[in-house]
Amino acid sequence: MPGRHLKAIRTPGLEDLPPLPMDAANLVRDFEHHYAHHLGRDKYCRSLRYHYQALAFTIRERLLERWNQTRYAYIAASSKSCYYLSLEFLMGRALGNSMLNLGITDEVAAAVHQIGVTMEEITDEEIDAGLGNGGLGRLAACFLDSCATLQLPVMGYGIRYEYGMFRQRIEDGRQVEEPDHWLRDGHPWELERQEYTQVVRFGGRSEFMRDYQGAGHFRWVDTQDVLAVPYDIPIPGHRNGTVNTLRLWKAAATDEFDLVEFNAGSYSESVAMKNAAENITMVLYPNDASESGKALRLRQQYFLASASLQDVIARWISRNRRDFTEFGDKNCFQLNDTHPSCAVPELMRLLMDEQGMGWEEAWNITSRCMAYTNHTLLPEALEKWSLDLFRQLLPRVLEIIFEINARFLSEVSSRWPGDSDRLRRMSIIEEGPDPQVRMAYLAIVGSFSVNGVAALHSQLLVEGLFRDFYELWPEKFNNKTNGVTPRRWLAWCNPGLSRLIADRIGEGFVADLEHIREIAPLADDPEFRERWYQVKQANKERLAALVKEQCSVEFDVHGLFDVQVKRIHEYKRQLLNILHVIHLYDRIKRGDTENWTDRCVLIGGKAAPGYFMAKLIIKLICNVAKVINDDAVVNGRLKVAFLPNYRVTAMEIICPGTDLSEQISTAGKEASGTGNMKFMMNGAVTIGTLDGANIEIREEVGDDNFFVFGLTAPEVEEMRRSYDPASIVANDPDLSRVMQLLSSGHFNMFETGIFAPIIASIMNPRDLWMVAADFRSFVNAQRRVSEAYLDRERWTRMSIVNTAHSGKFSTDRTISEYNRDIWHLKPVPAS
Ligand SMILES: *Cc1c(COP(=O)(O)O)cnc(C)c1O
Repeated sequence: MPGRHLKAIRTPGLEDLPPLPMDAANLVRDFEHHYAHHLGRDKYCRSLRYHYQALAFTIRERLLERWNQTRYAYIAASSKSCYYLSLEFLMGRALGNSMLNLGITDEVAAAVHQIGVTMEEITDEEIDAGLGNGGLGRLAACFLDSCATLQLPVMGYGIRYEYGMFRQRIEDGRQVEEPDHWLRDGHPWELERQEYTQVVRFGGRSEFMRDYQGAGHFRWVDTQDVLAVPYDIPIPGHRNGTVNTLRLWKAAATDEFDLVEFNAGSYSESVAMKNAAENITMVLYPNDASESGKALRLRQQYFLASASLQDVIARWISRNRRDFTEFGDKNCFQLNDTHPSCAVPELMRLLMDEQGMGWEEAWNITSRCMAYTNHTLLPEALEKWSLDLFRQLLPRVLEIIFEINARFLSEVSSRWPGDSDRLRRMSIIEEGPDPQVRMAYLAIVGSFSVNGVAALHSQLLVEGLFRDFYELWPEKFNNKTNGVTPRRWLAWCNPGLSRLIADRIGEGFVADLEHIREIAPLADDPEFRERWYQVKQANKERLAALVKEQCSVEFDVHGLFDVQVKRIHEYKRQLLNILHVIHLYDRIKRGDTENWTDRCVLIGGKAAPGYFMAKLIIKLICNVAKVINDDAVVNGRLKVAFLPNYRVTAMEIICPGTDLSEQISTAGKEASGTGNMKFMMNGAVTIGTLDGANIEIREEVGDDNFFVFGLTAPEVEEMRRSYDPASIVANDPDLSRVMQLLSSGHFNMFETGIFAPIIASIMNPRDLWMVAADFRSFVNAQRRVSEAYLDRERWTRMSIVNTAHSGKFSTDRTISEYNRDIWHLKPVPAS
């Protein structure tokens, strides 16, 4: 009983101390204290790492005050809370964001100046927190920022992976993965919370017994237990005193377990078991939009769900004792894809087996506080776990899933009597030689809300994948179009543009991006356009320097910066992009260069280590880049570079310096995209298909300010039936020459045949991604882009219009909609 001692011991709280001052002199003083007394460095230390750490601690203690105040305010308001459960949080760096949101950027800059280093030298010491793969993980990070800015009681729950997303190097044009041991030098932003450690159980078996009154009880026995130790990361809102929490769980071995093994005389084995326990949070699975199917991954998923739910329940009990009548009304769990969907049966288990509830009461609560977000329609990403694996790892949880399914199927059969085909289709258990648990169906059945992440995506979900469920429960389904936070993705990453905008309309757009619309009329102001152009050119210089350093390729800032950065995946069609690059090269070689627009093409992104085609596409991009950059005939009219190790911090330099944003997925395949929004917000113009949120971006900017091309989603499905890439190639002289160059080995002189699988995929009538189908339309749209860029005033106008209409794509709007339609939280001011 931790509370019992509190009266006897002194427990000083920050609320008893004067608030820490924010002026430069005091920041310097605290910096020096941390540098010398805490980190133990002195004038002989040559590394700037400790400067960064000392500054991080100086800022963290200022966050801590607001962190506590926020918690006290939430407790006092006894408000409803929401928990964002996600296997991924792609946070990037924290230092700049913390300064910005505390509103002390100038004070810190002055302090850093007094210390005698530059801000950039210090910020560059921070390592990216890369605990995610791509869009889904970065969305979670942007959501946390917006929840804190809107002062909503929302807590993130995730995993503290020892190794985050791998670092990508390029060797001979091929991707090489290196482990990302991001915690090696410590993580100054986190606060370990030993006192909230939870126990998570695996294995064993489920026992049933009746008590003396005849009531049945289940016990999960002979389990292997793992400790979940929380580490909290502060999430500051934008200049509002609120600091929310991201709680990340680390797995640790239990002491009890070791002791048993030790008594059995196998000390070494017990230490080895310790490793097995700690392996659970060792590494992030590097698959984006495809499942791994590995047992360790299921362990991670259950570990997160169980530890987080136990934590919420423990907090509930500490405040409400064992009265759960209001639990369902006061708590909401948002599941970021199916990854944490074990939370559905796990909450049932905790309420029944640990809190003694009956099924009905537990189900009433569970199905009233779970909400599920779907992120993809790709079949390879739909999670299914083998029943055998589930039974081995989580026998009691599987029993509960069976019961959920039985009750669900009886509801289906009373609605559609005798429709056995429908029962088979909708069952949470997929029958077959190796039966599987369909995690998406489990999430839908257990949730009161199911949403897609862009209008088209949500529509395709209810028409296709989830059609049966939509017929049963239309009221559950809704859309929440994604967004990005304008703090990191405009105010922080593009200070030049932010200053220019603030000069004209004030700083209000940072906290409320709808205001950015007020710059739209300035597109007609030649002086404003000129300043806008100068800012873009300066950002292009910054990007060119990065490309020079990382790729040894020189980009001339007078060329069109044409950029595609995102995970490498066939559906995202980096291949279509490189076919266009080859076509431009072919035009130069043939002398077809009248009214030419110089282009600098940048492509970047990581491939899943086991994804053969994605890795081969990287190799092709690198080989094409080398041939083009080394060909004297090209003479600067075309430059191509592959940027290694694409990550959040790289994107902070890339999106401000981009002219043309490539969003060219096969229509119907990209659920939303968020890279598209970062580019748009920073004044890039999009060339894109009618897919995901591109459709909504085009609606906002108007078709004059967006280069659309390609088949629509229904046209893609229609064309599949009679798709004949060979005849498309034969009837298009440009594409024929591109395929000819590819097949001739022009880009793989001493590597005979290596691109054969790529050629085969383009020529395959069953090519899911329909690369050849959209080539002509893409090339034509690129022609229009080149013409538009030749007219500097016209292009700058389009750039301004794009930024001016990016208000919808702030996660503040997205989160307001989640709150209005799903969470129903009241904002709680921090003080
Ligand atoms: C925004 C972002 C993504 C998502 O990009 P898409 O183009 O939407 O796939 C992926 N990775 C990083 C590092 C990002 O910042």
